[in-house]
Amino acid sequence: MSGYAASAPDFDALIIGAGFSGIAMLHAMRQANLSARVFESAPAVGGTWYWNTYPGARTDSESWYYCFSFSKALLEKWNWTERYPSQPEMRRYFDFALDELGLRPHIQLGTDVESADWDESSRRWTVRTSDGKQTTARYLISAMGLLSEPLYPSVPGLERFEGERHHTGRWPQGGVDLTGKRVGILGAGASAVQFLPHAAEQADHVTLFQRTPNYVFPARNRPISEAQQRELRAGYDTMWEKLRANLFAMPFEGSPANRLATQTPAAERERIYAKLWETGGFRFFFESFDDLLVDAQANETAADFMRRQIGEVVKDHATAQMLMPRDYPLFAKRPPSGQGYFEAFNRPNVRLVDVKRDPVAAFEPWGLRTRSGEQHRFDVLVLATGFKAFTGAFERTPVRGRGGVSLIDHWRRNGVRTWLGCAVRGFPNFFMLGGPQIPFGNAPTIVEHVSELAVGCMLAARRRGADLIEVDERAEREWCDLVDQVMQTTLVRHGDEVGSWFTGANVEGQATSIMVYVGGANDYFRRCREAASDGFPAFAFR
Ligand code: NAP
Repeated sequence: MSGYAASAPDFDALIIGAGFSGIAMLHAMRQANLSARVFESAPAVGGTWYWNTYPGARTDSESWYYCFSFSKALLEKWNWTERYPSQPEMRRYFDFALDELGLRPHIQLGTDVESADWDESSRRWTVRTSDGKQTTARYLISAMGLLSEPLYPSVPGLERFEGERHHTGRWPQGGVDLTGKRVGILGAGASAVQFLPHAAEQADHVTLFQRTPNYVFPARNRPISEAQQRELRAGYDTMWEKLRANLFAMPFEGSPANRLATQTPAAERERIYAKLWETGGFRFFFESFDDLLVDAQANETAADFMRRQIGEVVKDHATAQMLMPRDYPLFAKRPPSGQGYFEAFNRPNVRLVDVKRDPVAAFEPWGLRTRSGEQHRFDVLVLATGFKAFTGAFERTPVRGRGGVSLIDHWRRNGVRTWLGCAVRGFPNFFMLGGPQIPFGNAPTIVEHVSELAVGCMLAARRRGADLIEVDERAEREWCDLVDQVMQTTLVRHGDEVGSWFTGANVEGQATSIMVYVGGANDYFRRCREAASDGFPAFAFR
């Protein structure tokens, strides 16, 4: 960046990670004429869409908005083939975007960031990488992903299991041949929901070990014709406008729906649910009624509808009962979207085992044993056990701010604290994209806003001749209080009781903190805009 001392750092910013966040940030930096280098541990870009290659992996947000919005050229040239693109299509999209935006030269693949340290005297970050080098920059950007660090179950004997073992979030790139094998899947979240129907088609037998049943929407994937693609393209401008005004950054038709479940006659309510159930995906929740997230009675009407759908699909009564969530409201855990998930339990080669009633006691060389002594034998163990959401990446990659304190230790000591999910006091010149306390919603659009905010802040610093910026204590406290207050008004707060990653409660032994802002993506975007137009009053510029 021009205007700094002769011993200028190597780059204006170093960015860790080349998924949606890292690429959005790099693009925003280049647009502002700021220099940046991205380090990506994988041999290709895509982040989560590089690692999650398990059969069935695809988005559960619709393709036409689960993508970059900042470039007309990308929107004009790229044709989505399906409503929910598969993982290989997402990989192709990332490669296309990178070439189209000319960003490849600024990304160093296959390079793990081992640590990042702030030096107060030179006011710069030093990043140590797996190639043995050190690189410096004025700013550090974490684009490490919110669901990137796999969570392994703390069940004794995992190492003793002698068959193949794979975490869905680290699936082998070459694939796994399940033909003729007995497969055990631990977990019943979004990854398991997508994987099960594919595993059941290939494998000899599949046992799914479920602790907590999930409310699963039917995704209803379909191809996108060229005519539909043309129509989408023609409506892009209006669509992004609608999306930015939406609570979840999704361009849904009737959202808000301007009606309440509790004030709608039962027959009418049923008709609305049935219609949206056929439409598929998150629309069932977001386009039906406005009180589902805040009113337990309203929420129960949707939960009850969903349980009845499970009862209609799953033929075996006991299995259907086990699959019906009853102990928590819809959206206390992040609900998955599935394609043939419940149907898979009607196959003779699929069995559901309830490991809440009879928990897994230990893995054995041949499979697993439950507390009651029941033995389950399998050749391949699939851990669909999720991620250390938001904070896991900082456990793996130490980011040390003022006084050499690592961010993960700071949060462990004080609870997760941020300003707008992107800056942390004690960590000057540091921004997170996809950090804790960002809004729950369409992630690519949300991280784009954060990238613009971060670059805006850097430019403001340059204009003021400042080489150190840091969020002030009051702004951070006010944001954390708001995140907390808003959470208490919604049913998402029950996530703590059911091991939701929304609060980090899915990680055994971890103190919980509120990790998502449920006050709306639209409200968040407004705050980002205001911060920029007011000259970033939350920051001290030195
Ligand atoms: P998850 O939703 O956290 O589910 C993990 C599953 O593993 C849960 O069923 C959990 O049970 C179970 N589990 C964990 N430890 C266990 C243990 N020791 N014993 C028994 N069961 C155990 O993880 P995920 O399915 O990977 O999904 C995580 C998030 O990634 C999703 O919510 C979504 O945001 C994202 N994702 C998105 C897509 C998509 O867009 N299509 C696909 C996959 C994932 P409990 O519930 O009882 O804790």
